[in-house]
Amino acid sequence: MLSDTAHYFRKAAKVMGIGQRVQRVLERPQRSIKVEITVELDNGDLGTYTGYRVQHNRARGPGKGGLRYHPTMDEDHAIALAGLMTWKTAIVDIPYGGAKGGIDCDPRSLSPREVERITRKFVGEIHEVIGPTVDIPAPDVNTNAQIMAWIMNEYSRFHGFSPAVVTGKPVDLHGSAGREEATGLGVTYCIEELLSRQGETVPEKRFAIQGFGNVGSWLAHHLHERGGKVVAVSDIGGALYRKDGIPIDALKDYFDEHRTLEGFPEAEAIERDDVLFVDCDVLIPAALGGVFTAENANDVKAKIVVEAANAPTTPEADEIFEKNGVIVVPDVLANAGGVIVSYFEWVQNIQQFRWELEEIRSKLQRYMRNAFITVWDLAQRKNISLRTAAYVVAIGRVGKATVLSGL
Ligand code: NAD
Repeated sequence: MLSDTAHYFRKAAKVMGIGQRVQRVLERPQRSIKVEITVELDNGDLGTYTGYRVQHNRARGPGKGGLRYHPTMDEDHAIALAGLMTWKTAIVDIPYGGAKGGIDCDPRSLSPREVERITRKFVGEIHEVIGPTVDIPAPDVNTNAQIMAWIMNEYSRFHGFSPAVVTGKPVDLHGSAGREEATGLGVTYCIEELLSRQGETVPEKRFAIQGFGNVGSWLAHHLHERGGKVVAVSDIGGALYRKDGIPIDALKDYFDEHRTLEGFPEAEAIERDDVLFVDCDVLIPAALGGVFTAENANDVKAKIVVEAANAPTTPEADEIFEKNGVIVVPDVLANAGGVIVSYFEWVQNIQQFRWELEEIRSKLQRYMRNAFITVWDLAQRKNISLRTAAYVVAIGRVGKATVLSGL
């Protein structure tokens, strides 16, 4: 994964003709810390974990990025994902740099009290290097609004009342309206922008979505609400297909009750990974990284791939898509809705003022549209892919801020 991010960065850097020296400055993380976390588990044993926080670049503002709790979390992952955040925040032009972190624990094998103790211990170790003007964590894989609330509370014990130290908090504890749907809605806005450039609209199109978690389910909801036909969806347990469109509201109700897609009576069950290869117009990976590879990219029938997940396309698959004329809207642009509404949450916390949902949605749409237009126009002008154009925009902005601040 580290090499994928580096590959895309270098490809864009080559198009821009930037020198080795600037390239080196932009590629390396500014700060990477690693801490040991020892806590007493519920059964009296000691649990030991390693926590990471990487601030990749802070030239345009404080570091911004999620915290991931996963046994595979390590420094390489944190560096690669922090780099992605640097480019993402620059593409959508919000005043942040990029950061990421996490702990190599498996929350599924821990009780809520154990997760709380681990989280508070982690904050105790890193509170001096995060903060509303330094680095603002947010939820990522296996972390949620409750964990953000504990982080805010623990940080505030050291530094006084500080809601702006994390985003993605519960709405009842200084969180923002619209944060939960933000990434899926942002992807929807992106799709609308792209289709409008082809003289088409959502209701004319068929969509397939891999993943029915936060991003996938909100995306399905918003596409369906606009009249789009979501013909296939999947989650870790399986996939569903219906040629004339799955009734998404009924599926959401079914999923809320059963916590699985399996057994939903109004669509046909298909093999889980076939969701990627069904006949559809727009394919949206919204689950995992590394989904499209040299082995399967030629089997994709969709002519548009919109990366709601982070890093779903390997560089080899990306080249195959380009050769096959598949338009790929890259992760750094497509899934930026979450960090944009995180930015709105931070602004509301600093102002101690609340915005209504409609205001959040219209601001989100404006940020997504502006970013899309900038990237699209550059790609057209230079005859490069949307991914390369997105990185060119980002590297240009971060590079300029770095040079203006003084190397
Ligand atoms: P989530 O944990 O809520 O949902 C993940 C979904 O993927 C679940 O439905 C799960 O069952 C499914 N899944 C897992 N393995 C699968 C497989 N092999 N085949 C099909 N489905 C599978 O996570 P999320 O928040 O929806 O995030 C999804 C992706 O979007 C991740 O790549 C994440 O990094 C990215 N992302 C999320 C946000 C956000 O705001 N949540 C923002 C930017 C990017």
